[in-house]
Amino acid sequence: MLATLMYGPGDVRCEEVEDPKILKPTDAIIKLSASCICGSDLWPYRGLQPTEGPAHMGHEYCGVVVEVGSAVKTVRPGQFVVGSFCISDNTCPHCRFGFHSSCVQREFMSGAQAPFARVPLADGTLVATAELPSPDLIADLLATSDVLGTGWYAADAANVREGSTAIVVGDGAVGLMGVLAAKEMGAGRIIAMSRHKTRQQLAIEFGATDIVAERGDEGIARIKDLTNGIGADSVLECVGTQESMSQAIACSRPGGSIGYVGVPHGVTFDGQAMFFAQRRMLGGPAPVRRFLPDLIERVLAGKIKPGKVFDLKLPLSDVAEGYRAMDERRAIKTMLTF
Ligand SMILES: [Zn+2]
Repeated sequence: MLATLMYGPGDVRCEEVEDPKILKPTDAIIKLSASCICGSDLWPYRGLQPTEGPAHMGHEYCGVVVEVGSAVKTVRPGQFVVGSFCISDNTCPHCRFGFHSSCVQREFMSGAQAPFARVPLADGTLVATAELPSPDLIADLLATSDVLGTGWYAADAANVREGSTAIVVGDGAVGLMGVLAAKEMGAGRIIAMSRHKTRQQLAIEFGATDIVAERGDEGIARIKDLTNGIGADSVLECVGTQESMSQAIACSRPGGSIGYVGVPHGVTFDGQAMFFAQRRMLGGPAPVRRFLPDLIERVLAGKIKPGKVFDLKLPLSDVAEGYRAMDERRAIKTMLTF
């Protein structure tokens, strides 16, 4: 089959590789309905994260099971499934506590920017739907696998409640999904920090009530203006730089919560400043598996349309252009079709 390989920074190719096969009795092989490129794939693409030469890319997926290992009990060939980018057993103490992304058997999914993929720990990782979904829901279901699940976790970790004031730092795909999540969780006011017209429009479509285009000190001053000098109950940090993290902390009110899901690169904290700031912070790789049944149900019921975040759809053979478009911010998120 053809699959996506990253040879090094800026060098993504679509090349012939061996078909995936069952390696352990707990594996499943799925035929993907679609795949996509993640914002986190841009870290190695930009040379900001070391890679060991040709790496199989892709960790967002949904599709139909074609084969299962001898120990798999809960999913079977023919079923439509969605899984998280974190492989988890769904039985260990961390999974049972809702933190599947710290599963004792955790692995990170790879090789999903391809028409077929191997999913380890299939019973714990995959969630099957009762029926095959209609083709027009594939983009929405694919989004639940990571980008929506991660935005959802940001809102959950930031403690968004009915009537909360929420701020979303970052207008990438995850930030936009954070807006959608905050809206679904009942936030009364959702302030999206974004400087880009098309992203601002999408944020409003997903439920943002205010847009702040300023950044840094000016952005913080605007937030203080909008919140009567108090700051927000909940802040979703969806970037991962020092600037975005400092802004997130400064925009929160004392006792407020910050959910941070942008993988931190070069971010440091000042212990004493944090002590006096009195903020709650929870971040990390999203335990998407915890949210998947609920998110899938919301999509199937037509309540949410997270698939709108894919503003570029390309065949797998054009995957290199998909990376370039996201790198140059010409696209928010690229969906790959087969
Ligand atoms: Zn586990």
